[in-house]
Amino acid sequence: MLDINKIRNDFPILNQKVYGKQLIYLDNGATTQKPNQVIDYVSEFYSTINSNIHRGVHSLSGKSTEEYENARLTIKDYINANSEKEIIFTKGTTEAINLVASSFGEEYINEGDEILVSQTEHHSNIVPWQMLCKRKKAILKVVPVNNNTEIVIEEFKKLLSNKTKLIAISQVSNAFGTIMPINNIIQKAHKVGAYVLVDGAQGVQHFKTDVQYLDCDFYTFSGHKIYAETGIGVLYGKEELLNKMPPYQGGGDMIKTVSFEKTEYADLPLKFEAGTSNYVGAASIAKAIDYINSIGLDNIYEYENDLVNYARKELTKIKGLKIIGSPTNNTSSISFLLNGIHHYDAGMILDKLGIAVRTGTHCAEPAMKRFDITGTIRASFSFYNTKQEVDELCKGILRVKKMFD
Ligand code: PMP
Repeated sequence: MLDINKIRNDFPILNQKVYGKQLIYLDNGATTQKPNQVIDYVSEFYSTINSNIHRGVHSLSGKSTEEYENARLTIKDYINANSEKEIIFTKGTTEAINLVASSFGEEYINEGDEILVSQTEHHSNIVPWQMLCKRKKAILKVVPVNNNTEIVIEEFKKLLSNKTKLIAISQVSNAFGTIMPINNIIQKAHKVGAYVLVDGAQGVQHFKTDVQYLDCDFYTFSGHKIYAETGIGVLYGKEELLNKMPPYQGGGDMIKTVSFEKTEYADLPLKFEAGTSNYVGAASIAKAIDYINSIGLDNIYEYENDLVNYARKELTKIKGLKIIGSPTNNTSSISFLLNGIHHYDAGMILDKLGIAVRTGTHCAEPAMKRFDITGTIRASFSFYNTKQEVDELCKGILRVKKMFD
């Protein structure tokens, strides 16, 4: 059992009114709120040790660097990477995927090669591959999903061949909350010699991820979706693979020596970290992970699962409300529509009731097209949400319906 009152007290933003109503924040898929443990740490960092990392001999720089590099170790342990050299700091999931598309793409993708993505990917796990395919004359293929928003494994098997060089797949769909069968996909991909990138933006904060057990080749996530700062994220890549890939960007920090005749690149992980990174943000990820660990990821998973199941059950009772897909394995997000009411209108009225949900395509336009809709209303949950808030959401939806009736 989680002590929700205690947990909620850690998140100051939750304790406020919107339009005179208690805020109910159900937009955690877009970004999560930050606990005092992270906010205070960031403030303390800037108040006491702020200094640019890696380059300084003075003590503040040493301390900043230590926090940054310790964060790398914490993240390594959190996702069970084999080495901290496999943890690359990026601006976020989007940059991590672009890094792989650019660098891995340069080295490993050739004309006629095939890249597979699922039909429900976030745009940031579609567009970088489209750009790469255009550059390299490779072919992007789409694995369909069924009416329950689940990957059709039979279709995936048909699309998979020795031409497939990479599969880019989300761990959890941000549009529908579907947990993808990545274990199965990775095993099958490796049998034909294909690599797999897992977009963990919606998975890493909800349940245990073990990159060695999964055996994925790349794994990406964003700090802001795991209770840490924005403008920072992580690319995990297998060391052997990262070593073979060319740098993504050139600049300071990613070099050993520079001369006009010849520049030697730094070893991992700095080879991929050109320029001054958001080092405070990176360190904030470690604080967020410490916070998650203090609650326990298994407890979080259990609590959130129970909450989402409850929400599904209660939402289903509302006449004229249609949930898009009932995937067997799901977590954290529910996408739905109200008969005859535009999702934007519903979202705006819910906002007036203090309820923050997301409306629109959720950066997954092809997924919306698959279901022949222009968007959905998405409620996405965190461990600081409660069943009482779900009840308020349902009441809010009934009010929306009444206004339109
Ligand atoms: N992939 C998924 C599944 C996401 O949910 C998101 C963010 N909504 C992204 C990628 C992109 O993340 P970011 O904007 O933090 O780079």
